[in-house]
Amino acid sequence: MTEQRNPKLMDGRGLAKRVLESAAKKVETIRGSTGVTPALATVLVGDDPASATYVRMKRKRCEDTGMKSLLVDLPHGTSTEQLVGEIQKLGADPTVHGILVQHPVPQPIDKRAVFEAIPPAKDVDGVTSATLGRVILGLPAFIPCTPEGIMRLLSEYGVALDGAHAVVIGRSPILGRPMASMLINAHATVTLCHSRTRSLPTIVRNADVVIAAVGRPRFVQGGWIKVGAVVIDAGYNPGNIGDVDFDGALEPCSLITPVPGGVGPMTIATLIEHTADAAAQQMGVAGPEDQETKRSG
Ligand code: NAP
Repeated sequence: MTEQRNPKLMDGRGLAKRVLESAAKKVETIRGSTGVTPALATVLVGDDPASATYVRMKRKRCEDTGMKSLLVDLPHGTSTEQLVGEIQKLGADPTVHGILVQHPVPQPIDKRAVFEAIPPAKDVDGVTSATLGRVILGLPAFIPCTPEGIMRLLSEYGVALDGAHAVVIGRSPILGRPMASMLINAHATVTLCHSRTRSLPTIVRNADVVIAAVGRPRFVQGGWIKVGAVVIDAGYNPGNIGDVDFDGALEPCSLITPVPGGVGPMTIATLIEHTADAAAQQMGVAGPEDQETKRSG
């Protein structure tokens, strides 16, 4: 029996499936012309169960797409120097094409020092400061996977960004900040909100597009949403709960991403695609389509 979907729901699973199918073709082309299988190294530090689950999901998608997945599993208590040393080894290893450090990394590791140790060519998760600079300027880069996945969802559903008022809640370097830059590059008028923002409900009520990236369950209330607004919920809190009060927002919005099944699958699919593209670039292979990384806006 075909499931009846609410037409307001943005289907991240369906789009992610297509992205993964295209990545699998790229992997096949690379293997066919070089004999080398693209490989993603995932670095996990400590024993956070949520991080372990995310890493398992990413590794499974990697293998489903025909790529190699390498796990570097380090104990709690690993120092910044040890972690940087591991990243440098992966950076110098020609059989590794992409490096993902699962975050958050435990305190007191200097997260920034760890991220900066990833060579830009292998920065498939888009965490280095060099990548963020390129994203702001709209230059080709491996864009952080969640904002890139969101931009693809917006494009897939024909959301007009030119001149629209987009409100991004959250300013983290991997999500809110690059998201705001990409929306600016797509000619939206962007308001970037954070924990010190005053009158947040009033700001959100003026938004044509709302991007919630807060990390607080059901934080954005349905009553804040303007009639006809597009609501993107990047939140992923324990119990599969987003950052938006989904039931409250469904009535006024025109489109909304469910949690799960919205932004999450697009994040992983984008990571896998970046790894295939990174491998192609490192080995000088032109793919079935143009292998040049996408422009970040
Ligand atoms: P983060 O680094 O903790 O950043 C959270 C942001 O929310 C910060 O900028 C913070 O402001 C802001 N914030 C916190 N409380 C607020 C409040 N009361 N009012 C307004 N803003 C507030 O989190 P993140 O890594 O960006 O992740 C955000 C969410 O996305 C989380 O739920 C995370 O699980 C989810 N996520 C999902 C995916 C996916 O694949 N679906 C990937 C990554 C992250 P300050 O800067 O002022 O502290």
